[in-house]
Amino acid sequence: MEKTNLLYEGKAKKIWETKDPDLLISEFKDDLTAFNGEKKSSEEGKGALNNKISTELFKLLNNKGIPTHFVEILDDNNMLHKRCEVILIEVIVRNIATGSLSKNLGIEDGKTLPFTLVEFDYKNDELGDPKLNDQHALILELVQYQDELDKIRRVAREINDILKPFFKTKGLNLVDFKLEFGYDKDRNIILIDEISPDNCRFWDINSGQKLDKDRFRQGLGGLKVAYEEVLNRILN
Ligand code: 5GP
Repeated sequence: MEKTNLLYEGKAKKIWETKDPDLLISEFKDDLTAFNGEKKSSEEGKGALNNKISTELFKLLNNKGIPTHFVEILDDNNMLHKRCEVILIEVIVRNIATGSLSKNLGIEDGKTLPFTLVEFDYKNDELGDPKLNDQHALILELVQYQDELDKIRRVAREINDILKPFFKTKGLNLVDFKLEFGYDKDRNIILIDEISPDNCRFWDINSGQKLDKDRFRQGLGGLKVAYEEVLNRILN
């Protein structure tokens, strides 16, 4: 499958059209951004690692009955997937408090939550991705019906119920992650975007070492080695 027109360029991916109107190609970039684009860098090989990690996790989820946009990996940096209409909600799933949850609500960093928390952020860079409740999402017409929000929340929990134990067998705590959903051509709500250390937090169960984009956000270094470690653990 070949790329035709560049449809969109985001912070971490370029999205290309193909000759098939129902299929797009995501090209995973090496660029790194944090704090709503204020901190920028690049790490050679990061895009390819995220493409491979996302491919493995989409395959795992597809095999467990979670519909995703994934079709196939094309090469190091390119993934073929279905064209979907993006729902402008970032779905944040949290098992352990850290990041903005600890900052905003004063919950101790590293505290295991009594139950899995699912939050919605408005996917809007200009506004800095503010928190949304269901009424906000409906008023903004990000979806049409409450049922759709309920479904998104339910599927996000199902995904956590698959990924959390999977990563536990790999010696990693799945601390939190961000999902995106979209409408496919039949108007089904399916998982889109990527699942990678750019939008998940992974902590080594034994050492507590951070193996995700917090290495960049917090200036810890060793980002590529950490992403390689995540891929190797997934594959082994
Ligand atoms: P926090 O709200 O604590 O900053 O992030 C919670 C989780 O969602 C983390 O795993 C983080 O990587 C992910 N996340 C939240 N917002 C974004 C975003 O705008 N882009 C990306 N790539 N990940 C995000």
